Amino acid sequence: MIDFSFPSDVEEVRLKVRSFMDSEVRPKWEAVDQNDRRQVVAVIVELRERARTVWKLWLPHMPAEWGGMGLGPTAMAAVSAEAAKVSIGPYVLNAQAPDEGNQHTLLHWATPEQKQKYLRPLCDGSARSCFAMTEPEVAGSDPTLIKTFAYQDGEEWVINGHKWFISGARGAQFALLVARTEEDPDLPQAANSCFIVDIPSVGWNIVRDIDTMSGGHNHCEILIQDLRVPASNMLGGRGQGHLLGQYRLGPARLAHCMRWIGQAEIALDMMVDRALERYSHGSYLAEKQGIQWLIADSAMELYQCKLMVLHAAYKIEHGFDFASEVSMAKHFVANSLWRIIDRAIQVHGALGYSTDTPLAGMLQQARWSRFADGADEIHQMRIAQRTIAAYKDYGTTKKATGDLPL
Ligand SMILES: Cc1cc2nc3c(=O)[nH]c(=O)nc-3n(C[C@H](O)[C@H](O)[C@H](O)COP(=O)(O)OP(=O)(O)OC[C@H]3O[C@@H](n4cnc5c(N)ncnc54)[C@H](O)[C@@H]3O)c2cc1C
Repeated sequence: MIDFSFPSDVEEVRLKVRSFMDSEVRPKWEAVDQNDRRQVVAVIVELRERARTVWKLWLPHMPAEWGGMGLGPTAMAAVSAEAAKVSIGPYVLNAQAPDEGNQHTLLHWATPEQKQKYLRPLCDGSARSCFAMTEPEVAGSDPTLIKTFAYQDGEEWVINGHKWFISGARGAQFALLVARTEEDPDLPQAANSCFIVDIPSVGWNIVRDIDTMSGGHNHCEILIQDLRVPASNMLGGRGQGHLLGQYRLGPARLAHCMRWIGQAEIALDMMVDRALERYSHGSYLAEKQGIQWLIADSAMELYQCKLMVLHAAYKIEHGFDFASEVSMAKHFVANSLWRIIDRAIQVHGALGYSTDTPLAGMLQQARWSRFADGADEIHQMRIAQRTIAAYKDYGTTKKATGDLPL
């Protein structure tokens, strides 16, 4: 029998996260003057301290030896969706991008010395990090085009290049930087290697915090000029940058989906709430078929999102091949998030377009989900390739549709 419920210990953690978000994080975060940086920082520090010492909700995705709660991907789906109902929620639990992905990457690839120096402070919350791969000059969708170049000079690597949209770069204590090290590899994917770069370092220059359609959010442009990195700071081996990026991005993409589900659920709740209280042409909006269709489409999509994310998480947890399922979930959840928030705005009318509700800000944030960490079209390309390959190999596409027993 297929059991769609969580074990009681996971359900307990999920409810605890919800309770922490409702009773402390949301009220404190909403009361803060976002223009007062000192107040913002003070509240974040206080909430993180409470998460760690009082609520024991810290690093849910990391093993206990690193101070975490040791939750697997399916349990994380529950925790992340709850935490993401408040924008600052994942950060309060030390489970936010890009640190969460970097923590997984370091846990898997770092040497014991690298772990002590870089992973430990990241886990105890005294450091932040960033992940630097995308470049303005070449398509980020194709990492084989990366131009940032590193050459070895004795016990050091010397790196030159240009990166942008590096989230969290300002204030980070180190970066995981992907650069080309191999001139003519057998496989184009084996051209890049990954380096741990201490910040600040001579040659690591933050040019600007890029202003986006929703303002500046610490997505930085970085100029890398004769940056010297000790050879011992290579993460993984030479030419393993792509492999490492893929290892990082699979679960990291799913972690995004989990947070987006929390956001989509907020939008649907708001849509229904507004439809129940807004009156027009003789009845409440909730009684109009046109509005019911918006609600129904959103409910069906959110249901699909949840099933896809849980199934992809299950596949990761059990060591099955998860590439297609994560791609499908990433594409579907990102687009559903956009549509559900957009419908919620529609039902709110002018109020939805204003900044009096969080919906306008949520829509702006949702826009990047359709191309960051793999653009829609790239995921579609991979999904199609795997579907065609499954048909060629097995005479049926069944394996490419979740490989479910149906
Ligand atoms: C908010 C935000 C945060 C980010 N954080 C980070 C970060 O921390 N670190 C980092 O390294 N990067 C980060 N990025 C960059 C992000 O990963 C890239 O935007 C993404 O990989 C796409 O690369 P690109 O922007 O160069 O788009 P391009 O690769 O130039 O693609 C542009 C468009 O072309 C189309 N396209 C591209 N290739 C194909 C194809 N083969 N077939 C069909 N269509 C195609 C797609 O529609 C795509 O959206 C962030 C971006 C944003 C917006």
